[in-house]
Formats: sequence, structure tokens, C-alpha cells
Amino acid sequence: MEVLAEFGTPEQRKRWLQPLLEGEIRSAFCMTEPEVASSDAANIATRIERDGDQYVINGRKWWSSGAMAPECEILIVMGRSDPDAPKHRQQSMILVPRDTPGVDVRRGMHVFGYTDGAHGGHAEIVFDNVRVPAENLISGEGEGFAIAQARLGPGRIHHCMRLIGMAERGLELMCRRAVSRTAFGKPLAEQGVVQEWIAESRVRIEQLRLLVLKTAWLMDTVGNKGAHTEIQAIKIATPSTVEWILDKAIQAHGGGGVSQDFPLAQLWPPPAPCASPTARTRSTAAPWPAASCAPTPVPDCSSVALRHKAFHSPDPFPPLNRRNDTSHD
Ligand SMILES: Cc1cc2nc3c(=O)[nH]c(=O)nc-3n(C[C@H](O)[C@H](O)[C@H](O)COP(=O)(O)OP(=O)(O)OC[C@H]3O[C@@H](n4cnc5c(N)ncnc54)[C@H](O)[C@@H]3O)c2cc1C
Repeated sequence: MEVLAEFGTPEQRKRWLQPLLEGEIRSAFCMTEPEVASSDAANIATRIERDGDQYVINGRKWWSSGAMAPECEILIVMGRSDPDAPKHRQQSMILVPRDTPGVDVRRGMHVFGYTDGAHGGHAEIVFDNVRVPAENLISGEGEGFAIAQARLGPGRIHHCMRLIGMAERGLELMCRRAVSRTAFGKPLAEQGVVQEWIAESRVRIEQLRLLVLKTAWLMDTVGNKGAHTEIQAIKIATPSTVEWILDKAIQAHGGGGVSQDFPLAQLWPPPAPCASPTARTRSTAAPWPAASCAPTPVPDCSSVALRHKAFHSPDPFPPLNRRNDTSHD
């Protein structure tokens, strides 16, 4: 949706963005390919070639999230439109209705053995001489790399927001289990180590939430480029923090934690934003050490726009964790 909102023509927005915003249809983003290292968008090999007033698309994608949902009607496909252009001007993005002849949704990818199908699933798709009108091109030929870069910032922060929700769910389940299960004569909740897991989880979620909130605020106020360092920071901090919390929630459930009877095994492990490991993020977050020395302003929550509402819980301290006593420790 972000791609269409930022780069779509008025016609493209009317035709596709409006029904997406209204929840009537879904979309999928098709960049990653099995044959090339797709963390480097310049490698994308699918061809998008002009032929009269149409473009012809040939290639194979995988991990197109949501493409298997019955409501998914539109694919944003990235491909090479000019192999002879400078490296970062070779790629374009184009809108392909999923029911276009030649679009073959082959299978859904499994994630650690799970189908991950709540949103439809991550599809492998073959594009075989797929023809779409030239006006389906987004922004212009050669703009694909720039669009991909612009999309990744918002994409990452949405992912981090969802992961925080997963951590909240894990903590809530851990609390419920700890008070309802008795071992060696007392509830798990009275074991010091379990209390420490619960307290530490709450602290880590709040720390993470504030870092993500600050990043969202910077994106709203100084733009994605200005928020680059923080976007890299949340990409590093979020998966590791959420993984720690889910690990403790699973342990508190004993054997049940890894079973199909609780949602924890399915939440595990929390995927990194854009499935890129933190090692690469750390190495590409070049300005991080220098930038981190400079004080950055604190968000003014009153000016924070829509984006924050999406993840900021109305009650940041769910009842299970709220202290009833009045002590000041
Ligand atoms: C659950 C899930 C959902 C996904 N959804 C989508 C989607 O909707 N649309 C889509 O197009 N793709 C999607 N992807 C694919 C994802 O974006 C890619 O897997 C990711 O970009 C990495 O590309 P690759 O798999 O080709 O790995 P490669 O590019 O082959 O990289 C292999 C490893 O090397 C690392 N690496 C690369 N360069 C460096 C470096 N300089 N330093 C250190 N490490 C490096 C990479 O980070 C990676 O870990 C999804 C993946 C998953 C798992």
C-alpha cells in the first residue's frame, strides 16, 4: 500500500489503493527470487520488457507474502527493465493483477515447518510471458531500486510493531500459565526465576516500544532517510528482544510450549524484519556509532501521527502485570 500511496498515479491509486485501504482486496510484493541473492535488490533478474503499449514479464519469485490469500488481487512485481542502465537504474516495478494469464502461483512456502497461512501464505510464483498495459508501471522505468529502498523503512517498522504484539501475547500467556500451574507445592508464579522472566519481559517490551515509537516519530517528522539509524536499530533490537521473551514463555509452558496446543511454537522464532539477519544490518548501519553519540530529541506524543496508533496499546500495562500495591520499589 505504501508503494501505491507514495508512487502510484491517481488512476493506480483509485483502482488498487482504495480497495486495499477499505480491506476489500489484498496485495503482495514480489521481489525475492530463488535463483539470486535478493537481499541485494540490484541482483533481481526477472525481466520486464516493453512491447508496444504493454510490458512483458518473465521470471520466478518466492516468498511473496499474502499472494495465496483468496482476496489477493494485485501483485507489485520488481524486475529488470534495462540491463544496460547504471546498476541502480536497471530495475522497475509494475502492477500485475493476479488473474493475468501467465501468472502461476506454484506453492506456499513453509516457515520452520509451519504453513504460516494466516494471511494466505508466502507464494512461489512463476511469471511466464505475462502481459500488462504500459500504464501499470509504477513511477517510471528504472525507479524500482529507489522504490524498494523507500518501501523498506515503513515495512520494517510495521514488522517491528507486529513483533511487539507477539511479545505481548507471549507475556500474557506466560503470566496465565504461571498462576494456573502448580509444581512442587506452589504456583510457578511464586518461583523466583519465573517472576524474574515476567518482570524482565515487561521491562524489555517497554524499552522496545519506546525505541519503535521514537523511530515512528522520526519517520513522521524528519522522514525515512532522517530516521535511517533508528530504523536499523529497531531491526536489530526487536527480533532479539521478542525472541528472548517468547523463549521464556515457551519454557514456562513446559512441553506444552512447543506443541500445537498453544500458539507459542507458531510465534517462534520471530522473523527478523525483511528476513535479513542482524549481522548485515549491523554492518550496513554505518552511521550508527557516530550518530548514537549525538543526543536525539524525545518524541512529543501529541504530534505523533496515525502510524503510532496502530501499535500503541490503549493500556500499555495489561492488567496481568499491573501492580495493585502502592510500594515504590
Ligand atoms: C517469512 C518471510 C516473508 C517474506 N516476505 C517477502 C515478501 O513479501 N516479498 C518479497 O519479495 N520477499 C519476501 N521475503 C524474502 C526476504 O525479503 C528475503 O529472504 C531477504 O531479502 C533475503 O534475501 P535472500 O533470501 O535471497 O537471501 P540472500 O540474498 O541469498 O542472502 C543470504 C544471507 O546473506 C546475508 N547477507 C547479504 N549481504 C550481506 C552482507 N553484506 N553482510 C552480511 N550478510 C549479508 C543476507 O542478509 C542473508 O541472511 C520473505 C522472507 C520470509 C522468510
